[in-house]
Amino acid sequence: MTGSLVVVGTGPGKAELMTPATAAALERATDLVGYGPYLDRVPVMRGDQCRHASDNRVELDRARHALSLAASGRQVVVVSGGDPGVFAMASAVFEAVESGDPAWRALDIRVEPGVTAMLAAAAEVGAPLGGDFCAISLSDNLKAWTTVERRLKAAGEADFVIALYNPASTARPHQLGQAFELLRSIKSAETPVLFVRAAGTAESKVVTTTLGAADGALADMRTLVIVGASTTRQVGRWVYTPRSEPGARS
Ligand code: SAH
Repeated sequence: MTGSLVVVGTGPGKAELMTPATAAALERATDLVGYGPYLDRVPVMRGDQCRHASDNRVELDRARHALSLAASGRQVVVVSGGDPGVFAMASAVFEAVESGDPAWRALDIRVEPGVTAMLAAAAEVGAPLGGDFCAISLSDNLKAWTTVERRLKAAGEADFVIALYNPASTARPHQLGQAFELLRSIKSAETPVLFVRAAGTAESKVVTTTLGAADGALADMRTLVIVGASTTRQVGRWVYTPRSEPGARS
């Protein structure tokens, strides 16, 4: 039988936020490949399904392993959290195709979209991504910190709402504080800042503050931080960014 490889994301956490297309791909799979904790979120659907759990830092090896299983005729699903194309495994799979066995280019490879953390986080608080926005990963494992700083500065100057993925980890406790410092030199101290932990799960927790008061120590690896644009504001317990800017034609 011809093999296939589907890259999926399980969404931010709760089962309802996994798409039916992703659930169907998981059910068809003979082999699941992914970072252990993400695989653990997938319920056991069939006794004959093989699970290949790996460490979080070996994305390319994991992608190559998945591709070689698909090339040998297996129905492989590579599992990420959230959306598989947002700071996740889909890119690693294509990078492995690019540098790997030329025969892999003929494989049946598909990507299923998923609900990414910033969408689940935004929905917890209202509509902060209602205007133009961007997403930046603060992790400097795969890029230089100077690149992160350059992009933060440009996003702040362009007045985008900024969704910050990977805001902190035990190995990188100070970078979010540095990012806030940089943004304070560009944006108003009154700019809304949201810390959304475990968005889209039963344990979700939101802290709403301002850029002036934001404390980087509030974030961990399960937190998505949203820094507002100049138009982002609070109404009651919600935070939203209007779609129009002041003075725009309506
Ligand atoms: N592919 C994932 C992102 C992987 S990067 C996605 O599309 O969501 C990992 C980062 O995503 C975490 O450090 C955190 O910033 C964010 N994240 C993932 N799940 C989250 C959740 N349920 N709530 C808040 N942030 C989350």
